Amino acid sequence: MSEFNLIKRFFLNRGAARSDVVLGVGDDAALVLPPAGQEVAIATDTLVEGQHFPPGFDARDLGYKSLAVNLSDLAAMGAMPLYATLALTVPSVDEEWLGQFAEGFELLARTHGVSLVGGDTTKGPRTMTVTVVGVVPRGHAMRRDQAKPGDLIYVTGWPGDAAAGLALIEGRLQGQGSMRATLEERFRRPEPRVSFGQKLRQVSRACIDVSDGLMQDLGHLCEQSQTGAVVRYRELPISRSLFALAGEDRALQWVLAGGEDFELLFTIPPERAADFAKLRTQGGLPSVHCIGEMTAKPGIRLMDGKQERVIPPGWDPFR
Ligand code: ADP
Ligand code: MG
Repeated sequence: MSEFNLIKRFFLNRGAARSDVVLGVGDDAALVLPPAGQEVAIATDTLVEGQHFPPGFDARDLGYKSLAVNLSDLAAMGAMPLYATLALTVPSVDEEWLGQFAEGFELLARTHGVSLVGGDTTKGPRTMTVTVVGVVPRGHAMRRDQAKPGDLIYVTGWPGDAAAGLALIEGRLQGQGSMRATLEERFRRPEPRVSFGQKLRQVSRACIDVSDGLMQDLGHLCEQSQTGAVVRYRELPISRSLFALAGEDRALQWVLAGGEDFELLFTIPPERAADFAKLRTQGGLPSVHCIGEMTAKPGIRLMDGKQERVIPPGWDPFR
């Protein structure tokens, strides 16, 4: 199959059909007409075989996940996603694999109204780089540098589950049945908190998505906001499946430092607490837990009652 035919077959007219896409796949560049008066949010993330996913990982899951990790970055800004590009490197033209990859990508793109407007296709070690473009009302994006001492710290969903899911896939953790399936699913198909992020920006100024581990990403929030934080060990959410399969100690290790969660970690200033409580009464939101608060004193302290605990190291790609 020629490169042109390959692109046409697998990547033309993928994702949502958007009227603000003037010119999509097929020319030297895409042309788009984003809504006027909004800030444009742009994010890129790469998945590398052996580094971010094991060899033999399901092609549909990969198509889904390569977009999901990017949508999660836009969610953390409170932005609405519009367009994506896909730079795909594959070792050979495997039509079945490409079809499944495109299908997984398409599923999530349509769910979030994202149009695939361009990309690149090359031969080499299996790698996918997705860029997403979204919009957010001027001055309303959530930023890593906007947390203040006294803000409460919250996290969505069930951090740690994805790391346990990968451990199950790789045979480092044992388990069967629905609990295994739940944890694996959190690694294979993380749910980017896109609509929640857009609601959240009305009450939160600071947010980050958890990809490197809860404590490490909280560290980024603290550094950029020039604050510290206290995290309460006993308030950390542990899912039922994670607790059952991993036991408390290992579960907490993954909750704190597992990574690949793609949950939102955000702060709520005390004066917005009532608005946030009101937001939480709406249906269809992910579960949310308060795990501590930002402090003026730098550094992160993990408190177990009155005792301080050692913080396990998070994911570092160059370690
Ligand atoms: P160029 O030589 O200008 O880089 P290409 O032959 O790489 O053009 O790509 C042709 C068209 O197909 C371009 O519009 C490009 O954006 C698009 N394209 C290439 N690969 C992909 C892909 N994996 N997903 C989406 N669009 C792609
Ligand atoms: Mg090209």
